[in-house]
Amino acid sequence: MQWKGRRQSTNVEDRRRMAGGTMVAGGGILAIIVTIIGLLIGGGGDLGSLFGPGGGAVAGQTQTEVSLTPHQKEMGEFASVIFADTEDFWNEQFKESGLTYEEPRLVLFTGSVSTASGYATSATGPFYSPPDKTVYIDLTFFDEMARKYGAPGDFVYAYVISHEVGHHVQNLLGTLSQVTAMQRQASKTQGNELMVRLELQADFFAGVFAHHEHAQGYLDVGDIDEALVAASAIGDDRLQMQAQGYVVPDSFTHGTSEQRSRWFKLGYTTGDPSKGDTFTPAYNSL
Ligand SMILES: [Zn+2]
Repeated sequence: MQWKGRRQSTNVEDRRRMAGGTMVAGGGILAIIVTIIGLLIGGGGDLGSLFGPGGGAVAGQTQTEVSLTPHQKEMGEFASVIFADTEDFWNEQFKESGLTYEEPRLVLFTGSVSTASGYATSATGPFYSPPDKTVYIDLTFFDEMARKYGAPGDFVYAYVISHEVGHHVQNLLGTLSQVTAMQRQASKTQGNELMVRLELQADFFAGVFAHHEHAQGYLDVGDIDEALVAASAIGDDRLQMQAQGYVVPDSFTHGTSEQRSRWFKLGYTTGDPSKGDTFTPAYNSL
C-alpha cells in the first residue's frame, strides 16, 4: 500500500510511550509515597537526594516513558495515515447524505488500556468503544495476524482499522443502539445472530473503504488479497476449529470465514455504503 508522505490523522493518541502494567502501578505508588513524605517533612527541598539525581521529579508522574523502535514508530505513522484516509472517506460519504461525520479517535496502546467501556488487554484484539467513540489497537496484533493466523501484509492494517471505524459509523447511524435494544429482547442465539449482522456490515464497510483507496491509487497488487486472507483467517468457524477442533454456529458472533471475505468483497466491488444491508436478509442467506 502507498502511504508514505501522506496526511496523518490528528485524532490519534499514542499511549505506547507509556510503560504499562506493574511499572505504572510502581510509579503511582512511588508518587503517592513521595507526596506524603513531602507533606510530613514540609517543603521537601531535600527529597531529590533520597531518590538520586532527578528522583524527586517522579512525584505526580504516574507513567514512565519508554522509547519506541523505528519499526514501532513507522507502524504508528502508518496506522495514522490509514485513520486519516477513513476520515476523508466518511466525511465525504456523510456529506453526500446531508449528514455530518463526527470523527472518531484512535488510541494506540501496549499491553492494557482503560476505556469508557472498561478495562481491556491486548488479548481482546482491536476494538471500538462506543461511549468514547474511540478505536483501541495494540499494533502487536498485526504481528500475531501474520504469525498465528497466516495473514501478513500491510493492507491487513487498513482492513482491521477500517472495520473498527465501520463500527463507529454504525454508532453514528444509530445501528449499534438499535441492535443493543433488540438484543435485550432476544435469546442468546438471536443475540449472536445480531452480532454477526453487525460484524459482516463492518467488513462490508471495510470493503467500501478499500474501493475508495483503490480509486485514489493507493493500493498495490496483492493488497485486496491480503485483506481477504485476513477476513477469512479471523472467521469464527476457522478460529473455533483451531481452538477446539469443532464448530458451533450458534455461538458465532463475527460470521464464517466465507461470509466475512464475501461481504468485504461486496463492499470492494460496489464501493457503495448503501448496498451493505446485513439486517434485512434471512440469517441463513447472509
Ligand atoms: Zn467488529
